[in-house]
Amino acid sequence: MKQLERSGVFDEASFAQLKDEIAAYVAGPAEAWASRIESERHVPLELWEELRGRGYLSLAAPAAYGGREIPFEKYLELVELFSMSHASIRMIVHVVNGTWRAMDRFATAAQRQRFVVPSVQGEIKIAFTLTEPTAGTGADLRCSVVRDGDTYYLSGEKHLITFGTICDYWLLFARVAGTRGADGTLALLVDRNAPGTTVEAMDESMGVRGTDHARLTFDRAPVPVANRLGSEGDGLAVALGGFLTPSRISVAMSCVGLARRAQELALAYAAKRETFGKRLAQRQAIRFMLAENATDIEAARQLVLHAARQWQTGAADAAKLSSMSKLQAVEMLTRVTDKALQIHGGIGFWQPNAIERVYRDARAQRFEEGTNEIQKTVIARELIDGAGA
Ligand SMILES: Cc1cc2nc3c(=O)[nH]c(=O)nc-3n(C[C@H](O)[C@H](O)[C@H](O)COP(=O)(O)OP(=O)(O)OC[C@H]3O[C@@H](n4cnc5c(N)ncnc54)[C@H](O)[C@@H]3O)c2cc1C
Repeated sequence: MKQLERSGVFDEASFAQLKDEIAAYVAGPAEAWASRIESERHVPLELWEELRGRGYLSLAAPAAYGGREIPFEKYLELVELFSMSHASIRMIVHVVNGTWRAMDRFATAAQRQRFVVPSVQGEIKIAFTLTEPTAGTGADLRCSVVRDGDTYYLSGEKHLITFGTICDYWLLFARVAGTRGADGTLALLVDRNAPGTTVEAMDESMGVRGTDHARLTFDRAPVPVANRLGSEGDGLAVALGGFLTPSRISVAMSCVGLARRAQELALAYAAKRETFGKRLAQRQAIRFMLAENATDIEAARQLVLHAARQWQTGAADAAKLSSMSKLQAVEMLTRVTDKALQIHGGIGFWQPNAIERVYRDARAQRFEEGTNEIQKTVIARELIDGAGA
């Protein structure tokens, strides 16, 4: 399917202004939020309101839904900037600017008005709810529904769900009881206050501090059939179909942004720290690490942008390139943050040194939108099965 983004309202001059504005936000107010989030271990709702008020949650969506309709490749330049900030800020921007795309492809006109448009406009929060504690991610799903008239009754468990305690709806993937594989999977918008639902906040995570993650249990929770996106059998297509390719590219660009932040911190530290009468930046061993990092970041960035352009033009290799860019960028991020921390010496291991937080946040990226093993599975499938081997 062609994935052409509409770009009717885009103009270069106002985009350049927006980029400057976001860069200033990231360097200023976002740093203040970062300190607050790290010390309070909580993302205040005021931050959501501020991001919404500045229009940062509706950058990618169509103008008809109240979005700015920024073309995908350009939007990624903004993701790169936000990713230099606290991971919780990047998470809000990435999720809200992406979730509408999963819903929109399957929404009826009525569902678009109830869920997609209010989500783009920041009036409701939607949590993407796929992962289960007792099943693999995808066709292994165990959460199940039984239908009675116009209502599904949902039972099962989910965990690790970002924004899962504060959302209004879970965009939840389940299956019709008794089905197997992709057949019978379905996507439902489940009301956060549905009866028969237990919501628990998960314990504190290693990185992405302050963002809430939920563990959910459903015991015959009623969900109107009218809240189903697409048909029975479309669940995995909603969760993993056309939505996942751009979302993985966006996560790959998040890795590039975070790596750039690590490199900035390493460069600044190397320029000021002196040992044995010389600054670290004058030592060849340190210069080589910085040079390797710069090369690594640029190579990943170019692959991410190439994947984005291929997706925008509906190219057949977009899904493969998306997985390649996520795999490459996350591996790059691991190398870059490791060297950046090393350049800081032991003090980099301690809070409140920014590299300590960046290093922890980087580790989370290896799970988002699929692990490296999953990316390799996708790439190999395209290479080997796609080639008729
Ligand atoms: C910060 C954070 C936020 C998250 N937010 C959300 C969210 O909002 N919504 C949501 O639904 N999920 C969310 N997740 C969950 C995330 O998507 C999963 O952790 C990820 O997809 C891996 O699934 P899993 O944890 O069930 O690992 P498992 O499936 O248990 O896998 C464990 C390990 O085995 C490997 N593995 C598993 N199956 C295979 C296989 N068939 N072949 C080879 N290797 C395999 C995996 O790659 C992994 O390394 C979040 C996770 C994190 C860390």
